[in-house]
Amino acid sequence: MENKVAIVTGASRGIGRAIALELARSGCRIAFNYLSSDDQANALSKEIKELGAEAVGYKVDIKNYAAVNEMVRNIKTSFGSIDFLVNNAGINRDTSLLTMTEEDWDEVIGINLKGVFNCTRSAIYTMMKQKKGRIINITSISGLIGQRGQVNYASSKAGIIGFTKSLAREIAPLNMTVNALALGYIDTDMTSHLSEMQKKKAYEKIPLGRFGSVQDVARITAFLLSDAAAYITGQVIAVDGGIAM
Ligand code: NAP
Repeated sequence: MENKVAIVTGASRGIGRAIALELARSGCRIAFNYLSSDDQANALSKEIKELGAEAVGYKVDIKNYAAVNEMVRNIKTSFGSIDFLVNNAGINRDTSLLTMTEEDWDEVIGINLKGVFNCTRSAIYTMMKQKKGRIINITSISGLIGQRGQVNYASSKAGIIGFTKSLAREIAPLNMTVNALALGYIDTDMTSHLSEMQKKKAYEKIPLGRFGSVQDVARITAFLLSDAAAYITGQVIAVDGGIAM
């Protein structure tokens, strides 16, 4: 992993932050992205630099194709190559379909699914030219088994699974891989609004009986980007404590 250039989207907080740190510890040079959390982004840059690694944060809305394209072009110019892309940024706007607005739908699909297209489309040319590159897409078990109140979110995450498998077939001849991680409940801001009662109900559905940690996700991401995972592509690996088995 030494000196590999990794782009991690949505890294100011939560899972993306843990992935960026894990990859930095493995020797990667980190280009990370976020939407609005300047203080947290600055803190992450500082923490990565203290580890002796390189870090540059890019404040860009991943649903904006032109802005993402410019971000990726700047990363290529500054870092010289793009080895890894981790499409992690995502949001939820949970509500029943009956009360879901067009904006709830467009925003979730725009960030979670079109964002993956925007970032991957922008980075793929460089990776194909280099004839090397690894991509990890963060999806959810909602995209596999559905979840009440998440018609928009589950659609975006199921879309990412189709995207991953199709792209895996396209880029395999160039020895490039793309895999998806289907996450269950992970302890981050996204799950922090759940009441104790909701958490207790969730634990009952999780065979391992706990929420995952951001480290649980970061470690498998680093493994899938490493040479040890060179023969794994087009897979959707559930990191969910066993819920979706
Ligand atoms: P989080 O703590 O809410 O963090 C979301 C990150 O995405 C933040 O860094 C945020 O930046 C960034 N972001 C949001 N919208 C963006 C946009 N339009 N452009 C660029 N960056 C944007 O979320 P998380 O729990 O770490 O989730 C990370 C990924 O895991 C998501 O794809 C989520 O769907 C997936 N996932 C999470 C869980 C879970 O239980 N936590 C379960 C299944 C799947 P700012 O800080 O600037 O807003």
